[in-house]
Amino acid sequence: MTARPARLIEVALPLPLFRTFTYRLTGETPNDASVGSRVVVPFRDRRVVGICLGDVPGPAVRAVKDVVDVPDADAAVSAHLLAVCQWISAYYVVPVGLVLRGALPTLLTGAAEPRPAQKTQRIVVLRQHLPTLLERDRVFARAPRQREVYELLESLGGRAGAQQLQEMLRFTASVLTALVTRGLVSIEDAVVSRDPFASRDTGRSPLHPPTPPQRAAIAAMTAGAPGDVYLLHGITGSGKTLVYIELLRELVERRGKTAIVLVPEIALTPQTVDRFRSVFGDRIAVLHSALSDGERYDAWLALERGEKRIAVGARSAIFAPLCDLGAIIVDEEHEASYKQGETPRYHAREVAIMRAQLEGAMVVLGSATPSLESWSNAAAGKYRLLELRERVGGGRLPSVEVVDLRQIAAPAPNASPATVAMHAVVSPVLELALADRLDRGEQSILLLNRRGYASFVQCGECGEVVTCQNCSISLTYHRTPERLVCHYCQHGEPPSSRCRRCNGMTLRQRGLGTQQVERLLSERFPSARIARMDVDTTGAKWAHAAILDRVESGDVDVLLGTQMIAKGLDFANVTLVGVIDADVGINLPDFRASERCYQLMAQVAGRAGRGPKGGRVLIQTRSPSHHAVRCAVDHDYERFVREELAGRAEPPYPPTIRLANIVFSGTDEDATMRLAERGAAWLRRLLSARRTTVSLIGPAPCAVERIKNRWRWHLFLKADRQGDLTRIGSYFLRRFDIPHTADLRVTFDRDPMSLM
Ligand code: ADP
Ligand code: ZN
Repeated sequence: MTARPARLIEVALPLPLFRTFTYRLTGETPNDASVGSRVVVPFRDRRVVGICLGDVPGPAVRAVKDVVDVPDADAAVSAHLLAVCQWISAYYVVPVGLVLRGALPTLLTGAAEPRPAQKTQRIVVLRQHLPTLLERDRVFARAPRQREVYELLESLGGRAGAQQLQEMLRFTASVLTALVTRGLVSIEDAVVSRDPFASRDTGRSPLHPPTPPQRAAIAAMTAGAPGDVYLLHGITGSGKTLVYIELLRELVERRGKTAIVLVPEIALTPQTVDRFRSVFGDRIAVLHSALSDGERYDAWLALERGEKRIAVGARSAIFAPLCDLGAIIVDEEHEASYKQGETPRYHAREVAIMRAQLEGAMVVLGSATPSLESWSNAAAGKYRLLELRERVGGGRLPSVEVVDLRQIAAPAPNASPATVAMHAVVSPVLELALADRLDRGEQSILLLNRRGYASFVQCGECGEVVTCQNCSISLTYHRTPERLVCHYCQHGEPPSSRCRRCNGMTLRQRGLGTQQVERLLSERFPSARIARMDVDTTGAKWAHAAILDRVESGDVDVLLGTQMIAKGLDFANVTLVGVIDADVGINLPDFRASERCYQLMAQVAGRAGRGPKGGRVLIQTRSPSHHAVRCAVDHDYERFVREELAGRAEPPYPPTIRLANIVFSGTDEDATMRLAERGAAWLRRLLSARRTTVSLIGPAPCAVERIKNRWRWHLFLKADRQGDLTRIGSYFLRRFDIPHTADLRVTFDRDPMSLM
């Protein structure tokens, strides 16, 4: 090996620092580094894995340290993906090294070792038989290596280990990739997988021919130009999934492209994932959170090599290392889970749009209840709106009725205490509807977006509410197992029988949770098979899928749960949906509270009546005139948007303006407050010295003032132009000085999804 001349390179390190670092690349590392390569460098007294961002021109002016190692022959990050990470870094104001760390599989960022060897054994399977020699001559006219591999595989019975083939013929990876791309062979992992998606019997279910509205949407997209963004607004049950599938068949199968499909959460959408699998089989890599680091890395490699052509996953699948990207689909684009809650606080939908633009791919944002941001962008002509206004098969949207909880008649004087308790939660009309479904063997879904048994415990004498010792939030009473639990920090304690403040003995459980509804229902309908789905019943791996499988196979009469039951479920035998309390969350001090309530009700209502038996929805509420409730009842998305947008014009909130939430936190209350005030004063001075559309609101304590023993204050930056917000945020985060005391921190949350 001839030594290369030494040169200087710029390296991004996974550190909370905005600067990058210069190192000297000696000629002696086993591999050369180029843009996107992993490099191992000394930092302080550690060795850290960084990413090479390019060459630094000119001679070194001061002493720079040497790169210790360049472990891989190829770049770990493609130029496109690096550009995406740099955009995230600039827009969300995060050091690029932290973005890169989040974008790459842990196995590549943690260890300073060569790319780990593949853990699973890959098996090559023959997919297509070429019976005549003539045909072989034609197919392999300019690809003799492919023919050798193909024929060896054939002689081995159509199945062989990739490594075995490789050892026998010594071909390059591209030969196999080409065979895969051409559909002649496929590659499978031979490891016994605990992945339920791999073992689920998805079969090769026949695809329905698209309906005329579906066909129109597909035609519009396939005729579109690279970089186009489509907002697919299709009511619940309008068959959006088939539209995605047909689009991908065109792009992936016919045009040889690749694609990313984002779903809010893999565990909650097994039906959607199954449908993709049943069509695209092993060309799909499902990136779910239960993968081990090794499995995730294998999937990543298979995507990078082009062996898998479609990545399906939650938020972080947006970083899938695919080449020739044809489309990114963002299903249920309104879901808050697309926003990452910790650094880097990116929104996968926005990253999707940026990535697609860079790579010439199209984006499809699909939802029955699009976010106001996406809707406004479509209205402004930035996205193309495509609509599916009917349910597939001529089914109608279920009729939705309001049950005004303020008007429920007082219980009859002779009613049993059990009946009184029951009717305080499940109104007589909902009770009757449930009984009717049970009689007829149909299924019901009940939504209550609050887990636990009782949402707080209060002293009947002094009014004291039991709160968490670490957070300024009340503890939720859980019955099985019996404990008071904080839903912010998971702190738990046994319930006490006396009030902490006045020593009173009458502690009352207030506020309703799913456990309590479950108990009341099982008392009222002892033979009903009730499944509860919330965070407490779905902690185990694949627990979601297990519950949903039971619903699907008819082993459940009533599915009761939090918002996780409102997403994408498609069960024909569900003919009743009940919302136990539509008002949960409707009055939170967050400008998105109404939007979230509307989306939740519209989505859960959409679970009813998907089969020929039709459906009915009952919404229990104490605020029937709230526009979120009224519009959900009328299935009137557009009116909701109009009224909600009007409400966000004054005082202005997104999408009328651009917003960032700056949170100051620390372990000392006083120091945190002072930091917030100093930060606000600093920013006010900056704003007054500049021509900018940015204005500042606050500071004020956060709605939840303390979480995990950290005090929290915040302020808002609002701007008409997004570039202004980038400049001010970036200047502030780079220059504002944070004292080294009380573990003080500042976080910048751009386009926040939660202000709590
Ligand atoms: P959405 O996501 O829009 O709520 P889905 O994609 O879940 O709707 O589709 C609703 C149901 O309609 C599914 O059971 C699906 O299999 C079925 N479906 C979709 N398109 C067709 C079609 N063209 N013909 C028959 N059935 C269809
Ligand atoms: Zn807590």
